[in-house]
Amino acid sequence: MNLLKNLIDIIYPPRCPICREFLLDDPSGTGDRAMTFCRACLADFQKVTSPLCPVCGMPFVSRVGEDHLCEECLRKRPFFEAACAAYLYDGALMEAIHQFKYGSKSFLADSLGPLLAQFAQTWLTESNEYLTIPVPLHAKRLRERGFNQSLLLARHVSGQLKTELDFLTLRRIRYTSPQTGLGKDERRKNVRRAFEIINPEAVKGRTILLVDDVFTTGNTLNECARALKKSGCNKVFCLVLARAGNF
Ligand SMILES: [Zn+2]
Ligand SMILES: [Zn+2]
Repeated sequence: MNLLKNLIDIIYPPRCPICREFLLDDPSGTGDRAMTFCRACLADFQKVTSPLCPVCGMPFVSRVGEDHLCEECLRKRPFFEAACAAYLYDGALMEAIHQFKYGSKSFLADSLGPLLAQFAQTWLTESNEYLTIPVPLHAKRLRERGFNQSLLLARHVSGQLKTELDFLTLRRIRYTSPQTGLGKDERRKNVRRAFEIINPEAVKGRTILLVDDVFTTGNTLNECARALKKSGCNKVFCLVLARAGNF
């Protein structure tokens, strides 16, 4: 098997899925060059750093000072306890997520998922207490795309953290237009009551780890958290791969 793999590597040398550069070494250290990005692209992934809002995770434009609540969270607390993103939605990572979601490259979950799982381990404590739930896609969107990118990421997270994974209880019941191009209020209305819990017993009293690929306005995660809280779950923490915003 290894021999065959080595042979394939010689005939088709692995390339970075983002920039197509040949991968001469293994920057991830996982021993599988086919599952990683090149050193230059990885170096372009920017971690979200303080000062940020401890609730919604928004990094402040000013790079000095301590973490504090942002204006939005001060005005109205979201239904989730906290949201945290591994990286900024920018540069090479943005390109990778675009290819992953819109370029039908579901295999990129095997490169992006471990990065999110690694981040989750640094952010969360008592990880085995969580019930991991990916943000669901509407059945129609799932048919269009062929896979739910958040579920693919969540599989890696729950695998690494050894948490339970539940992708059936939270359902998206409204087919919504893409959030891009909509104003702030329209975005909020767009996902309003778009989710439902089909079995409240499954989430009752649990601490939920809600997984999504990109945090844009937080409306989607907030609506999921609203539905989960209404069904009696204890706490909701949102784990996202990338955070969009002004930075
Ligand atoms: Zn690259
Ligand atoms: Zn905030």
